[in-house]
Amino acid sequence: MISTNKIILVSHCILNVNSKVESFIEEFEREEARKELVKLIIENNISIIQLPCPEQIMYGSKRWGHVKDQFDTPHFRRICREEFKTYLYQIQEYINNGHEILGILGIDGSPSCGVSLTCRGEWGGELGSNKNLSRTIDSIIYTEEKGIFIEEIESMLGEKGIKLDMFGFSLDSIEKIYGSIN
Ligand code: SF4
Repeated sequence: MISTNKIILVSHCILNVNSKVESFIEEFEREEARKELVKLIIENNISIIQLPCPEQIMYGSKRWGHVKDQFDTPHFRRICREEFKTYLYQIQEYINNGHEILGILGIDGSPSCGVSLTCRGEWGGELGSNKNLSRTIDSIIYTEEKGIFIEEIESMLGEKGIKLDMFGFSLDSIEKIYGSIN
């Protein structure tokens, strides 16, 4: 296999789906799309750096699904920054040594790793005593902005004068991402 000096950073769950919030529905299409994208990256001899999953680290495997508003706390942002710190140093080192960082592949729709799309809503409070739980859940909206982790990553890169392309993985984004990194 021919190796290249190209590197892409990917959200943790691109390579390890076990980090995701447990889903109660089959995500067949999405899973196929994820595998196809990973295959394309590997077949094109692009090296992969797996970013940490801030939600799994902070809230564990039994966490509920959240919206961005719930993660937008100083402490969660601090955890995001701490987790990314060693990756920032690696990025600097690779750039200093002539490697090409193709960008960061996040997860569109995620409150943490969304790139062009995240989720917001009036979520919070005790689920068991909420008589309007389905109305609360339905308050979720998708907005064109980054998730908390990606915001902090962008900010930390900016502090070092580094600008990287960012791509948001979604069901229909594979060709666009592939076109951008190929
Ligand atoms: S926080 Fe990011 S890496 Fe973790 S499961 Fe959510 S989208 Fe994936």
